[in-house]
Amino acid sequence: MSSLNDDISEMHLLLGIIHNVDVGLVVLDRDYRIKIWNHFMWNHSGINPFTLTDKNLFEEFPELPVKWLEKKLDTVFLLNNRAFSSWQQRPYIVRFNSYNPITGRSDTMFQNMTIFPLTGISGEVEHVCLMLYDATDAALDEQALQSANEELDRLGRTDGLTGLYNRRAWEHHLENEFKRFPRSGKPRTLVMFDIDHFKKVNDTYGHQAGDEVIRITSALLQETKREIDIAGRYGGEEFCVILLDTDCQGGRIFAERLRQAVEATRVNYDGQEIRFRISLGVAEIRADLANHSVWLEQADKALYQSKEGGRNRTTLYTPE
Ligand code: GH3
Ligand code: MG
Ligand code: MG
Repeated sequence: MSSLNDDISEMHLLLGIIHNVDVGLVVLDRDYRIKIWNHFMWNHSGINPFTLTDKNLFEEFPELPVKWLEKKLDTVFLLNNRAFSSWQQRPYIVRFNSYNPITGRSDTMFQNMTIFPLTGISGEVEHVCLMLYDATDAALDEQALQSANEELDRLGRTDGLTGLYNRRAWEHHLENEFKRFPRSGKPRTLVMFDIDHFKKVNDTYGHQAGDEVIRITSALLQETKREIDIAGRYGGEEFCVILLDTDCQGGRIFAERLRQAVEATRVNYDGQEIRFRISLGVAEIRADLANHSVWLEQADKALYQSKEGGRNRTTLYTPE
């Protein structure tokens, strides 16, 4: 008699633990009928376990990933093995809200899940237990870390003054576009340009005014190019842009449009009006170029000819 009492009292303790533990516990039989739905599940779903007892899980929660979860459950029943799922694989199994007291934000609870078999007296797996852990903190931390890394990555690729690609990142794109050319066959044209007599701008108006001129030049470049074209700040007051699907004649038209836009611009800095000009070099990609550096050298050569020729002009690269 006392042993029965002991058993009942132990059962009582175990039930207390099952209901109060801070993970979700759901016990199912072979027909996916709900046998246990603990307090964690009750609190987060708002559904009282008494209304769920012996109901089919998938009929009560049709929004569950039925096929996927059935397969997992069946494997546990069949092989008497555990099955897992992490929030990285599937962010949640049962959709619960999770209130974050720090951000004051309510997110969907990220969940890890373990399913384990429960054998009956006969040794057969008669039930399985589905255990859900709240992984929201870890998931949000990891997402924050990931977006911080992406931001760092972006900063590593970006020129601080203009927001354009920095030289390293831009050259990386140049190399890619060069390698893609034989497959795509579409023309692409490189434009390099440099501000004329920029030292004079710095000397006359000061370095800060020079910076403002560089920023304005970058903005004019952004406005003139198409979204797909890849623009960078190559050095101090030297810029570069890869025009996709564009041949050298299209490149010349682009370069002249930009040159004229710069010429027509007045930069107001500290009550003074600054005018400036640019010289440009244009080179279309060709199949016989050894590598992307040769392509770049050709645009640079054309730019040098523009400088030599009197500045404020565009030159198309022509092989000697
Ligand atoms: P050219 O017409 O031959 O190009 O003459 P230039 O005076 O522009 O010649 P150069 O390219 O030698 O001069 C570039 C100057 O740009 C020198 C450098 O002090 C200045 N510079 C480079 N980077 C920056 C920058 O970020 N801000 C400012 N304000 N000046 C810079
Ligand atoms: Mg210059
Ligand atoms: Mg220069």
